[in-house]
Amino acid sequence: MSTQPTGQKSDEPSADEYDVAIVGGGASGLSAAVFTARYGFSTVVFDRGPSAIQRCYSIGNYLGFPAIDPESFLELGRAHAQYEGSEIVDDLVVSVEQPDAAEQGASRFRIRTQNGCELTASHVIAASAYNADYLSDLDDGGFHEPGTHPVDCEQATGRTEIDGLYVAGWLSGSPHQVLISAGHGARVAKSLIEDRRLANGFWEEVAQYWDWQVEGGTYGSDSWEQHIDDWIEETIPEDEAVSEERRERVAEAVTEERLDFQLSEAEREQRMEACNALLREHLLDEVPESEHERLQA
Ligand SMILES: Cc1cc2nc3c(=O)[nH]c(=O)nc-3n(C[C@H](O)[C@H](O)[C@H](O)COP(=O)(O)OP(=O)(O)OC[C@H]3O[C@@H](n4cnc5c(N)ncnc54)[C@H](O)[C@@H]3O)c2cc1C
Repeated sequence: MSTQPTGQKSDEPSADEYDVAIVGGGASGLSAAVFTARYGFSTVVFDRGPSAIQRCYSIGNYLGFPAIDPESFLELGRAHAQYEGSEIVDDLVVSVEQPDAAEQGASRFRIRTQNGCELTASHVIAASAYNADYLSDLDDGGFHEPGTHPVDCEQATGRTEIDGLYVAGWLSGSPHQVLISAGHGARVAKSLIEDRRLANGFWEEVAQYWDWQVEGGTYGSDSWEQHIDDWIEETIPEDEAVSEERRERVAEAVTEERLDFQLSEAEREQRMEACNALLREHLLDEVPESEHERLQA
């Protein structure tokens, strides 16, 4: 029987089945986890082994952080990914395989780790900088040659020739900066989300996903609903037969998700408080001691 994920950090995953398993909890993997977990996908991040980011002396080119050491950056990134509901497991992935079609069900991948954990996932994001040997059993060994990187993928989106498998950050051949890797992780997660939406009957234009937060009351008026309906109608591809049932299902889903973008004043404040607490907890070492009392107030 499968168990449900909990969104905690632990030595082992709390469930045996996830929507998304991310290999690598550096800049790109944690950023991807923030996006997939916020979308509502159960997400687990495995993190151990050779790392590029831990070799940085001090990160000085990340917008908003004139100087941050990699440990604080990773702690804060982990805390953020967990805050959104991802689990983080300190363990090394040793293999990713595709079970036989008969036994695979919705989960396309079986993941095994060094500590002996085994679970399945519908999607895998490989975000492990230079180590990708765990992919070499895929496609009967035809997908990836051990000891090599980058891994073959469509660079911008991270899509690979294997359905459900994506590559993010340094491992995809994207530029070697923390900020760009974090952006790439987000972009790859967005491709994964949009692919899943396409598979669920959304068409190209409405499959785009924003993940915005807007002020409560921005959406929901009659004229706004009419605007959404008109937009849905306009975007239906001319060369595709879209049934009335499908159109209504997609319109309902898009309307719901836009309404969910809205944050009330209380929700916004609660989020700001939680965010400030994370910053205080993980960045306090970065500011002079004389400032601690003021920041902790
Ligand atoms: C010496 C050096 C200095 C650098 N200095 C800077 C700098 O000053 N500024 C800057 O912007 N960029 C710098 N970079 C580049 C930056 O570190 C990378 O661009 C960025 O970290 C890449 O992000 P990533 O997510 O692809 O990989 P990483 O951030 O390295 O994350 C990869 C993660 O995957 C984990 N992992 C690996 N294999 C497995 C596995 N099998 N199972 C589970 N987890 C696994 C690793 O432990 C690691 O945590 C530097 C790089 C190096 C090598």
